[in-house]
Amino acid sequence: MAEPRRKPLVSGNWKMHMTHLEAINLIQKLSYSLEAADPSYVDLSVHPPFTALRSVQTVLDADDMPMSLGAQNVHWEDKGAFTGEISPTMLAKLNVSYVIVGHSERRQLFGETDEMVAKKVAAVFAARMTPIMCVGETLDEREAGATEERVVGQLRAGTAALNPEQMAALVVAYEPIWAIGTGRNATPDDAQAVCNALRAAVLADHGEAAGARLRIQYGGSVKAANAAELLAQPDIDGALVGGASLDPGELAQIVHLARN
Ligand code: PEP
Repeated sequence: MAEPRRKPLVSGNWKMHMTHLEAINLIQKLSYSLEAADPSYVDLSVHPPFTALRSVQTVLDADDMPMSLGAQNVHWEDKGAFTGEISPTMLAKLNVSYVIVGHSERRQLFGETDEMVAKKVAAVFAARMTPIMCVGETLDEREAGATEERVVGQLRAGTAALNPEQMAALVVAYEPIWAIGTGRNATPDDAQAVCNALRAAVLADHGEAAGARLRIQYGGSVKAANAAELLAQPDIDGALVGGASLDPGELAQIVHLARN
């Protein structure tokens, strides 16, 4: 049976950068830099900080820009006494399509556990959005030969409650922690091996269709200069881009490369 074609997804994680005015400027430049054919071949999402979501949504809708709106985090409850948190419904009402869940910065700096990540993944699906669930190993874990055990463990912990349809719709971002914001990359072969192990785990746990349809992004210092080789790997279906996504020309270049 031929494998279904997986449309690559390139996602720009702006982290804690961009006021709402700067964000509008960035998406306008990004939109000019895209080529007309790009959206037919590549999905693109931008993930501004919460304070810029409404402004970016308004411009994306008004100008019919070929990219989806994404968020960087969410709480799993729908409402309640959770000062400072944002609910899935609040994001869905802003036409948010993708939500990054379990980014390593949230796990390491803000104490997010696998259990919290699992609740967030389920809540994002319940609000009819798509989670981009991040997994990744530390340098110590990689050097101890524990990479696959670590990332497959995170994947299983975050997705145990999902049904096969949800599993197929999920996006997983493999982001080696030592490669995020450091300028260091996994080699394309290493990244491919880990993404293949993630897909094999989904095949084994959730069936062939889910494993074949699941999109797996690579993230960690991706830029136009190194994206082509990473995106050429058979189990890598796009990129989660941090620093380089703040430069619209660079992000557009990565989209072109994903198309090819
Ligand atoms: C990220 O924020 O998910 C990321 C991969 O960052 P960078 O591209 O800057 O390494």
